[in-house]
Amino acid sequence: MKRFAHIPWIELHAVDHCNNVCRDCNQRSPHSARRDYAPGDYLPWLKRLDAGGVGFDQINITGGEPFLHPDLAGFAAAFRGGFPDKNLVVISNGFWLSDESFAAHEKLFGAINALVFSIYPNIAHAHGGRAAMLAKLGRLKERHPGLEIITVGRAEFYPIRFDASVTPPAEPCRWADCTGLLPDGRLTRCTVAANAHVGQDCLPEPLASRDLYFDLRGDLGEIAAWRTKWPLDVCSRCTAKTAAPLPWKAGAATRRLDYETEYFDRLKAR
Ligand code: SF4
Ligand code: SF4
Repeated sequence: MKRFAHIPWIELHAVDHCNNVCRDCNQRSPHSARRDYAPGDYLPWLKRLDAGGVGFDQINITGGEPFLHPDLAGFAAAFRGGFPDKNLVVISNGFWLSDESFAAHEKLFGAINALVFSIYPNIAHAHGGRAAMLAKLGRLKERHPGLEIITVGRAEFYPIRFDASVTPPAEPCRWADCTGLLPDGRLTRCTVAANAHVGQDCLPEPLASRDLYFDLRGDLGEIAAWRTKWPLDVCSRCTAKTAAPLPWKAGAATRRLDYETEYFDRLKAR
């Protein structure tokens, strides 16, 4: 079959909301209403890509914080069943790490290939420090030697903002390959577009862009050109290419402990 395009990975939200409150969250999760998604919000679009000859290797389940989903194991299992040959990855901030939660998520860990942990200073502190959090991850790895566990430090953040005075970037930025899938059937080209469906407090520039989105309800014939276009219409005003990283900072005084309490209550009720 002719392949129109090849996409290394596709990101999709299990939920929009998050227990953390990072300043400059590109997903706008601290501003997002609570919303859980069903596999059926995404599977028809992934099948459309597959049937249309568009290859992809990996599905990243992200958010928001995916472990706030009431049935993350069932959510992941649907993608595993639909695409048994794809790499299936969950990306989390790890607030939930504990021996009790390891036991509760056995089914999930059996369905996915990898867990990626973004290590934020406030979540690491809540675990007793970065070393203590890494020790918990070590115990998880002992229980699941076949599960790939990746850690990414988030002590620094690259804020993405828009400014009329920015010089157009000559080369693709680090986010240019972050292909997302929105539940309305649009693919997104970079991380700033991933929050477009959230609607609440979105950055206006991505919403107005034509290049950031590809509608899977239409003809797939132009998808390769869409995937490789550079720069995008919105890039000329984006500070991502030139801005220096800032130290991570909470955008609000406290995390959403109500979301965390709900997660741990669900764990106890099992
Ligand atoms: S952990 Fe921080 S950066 Fe990640 S989704 Fe939550 S608020 Fe956004
Ligand atoms: S430079 Fe363009 S691709 Fe990169 S983050 Fe900004 S808008 Fe997205």
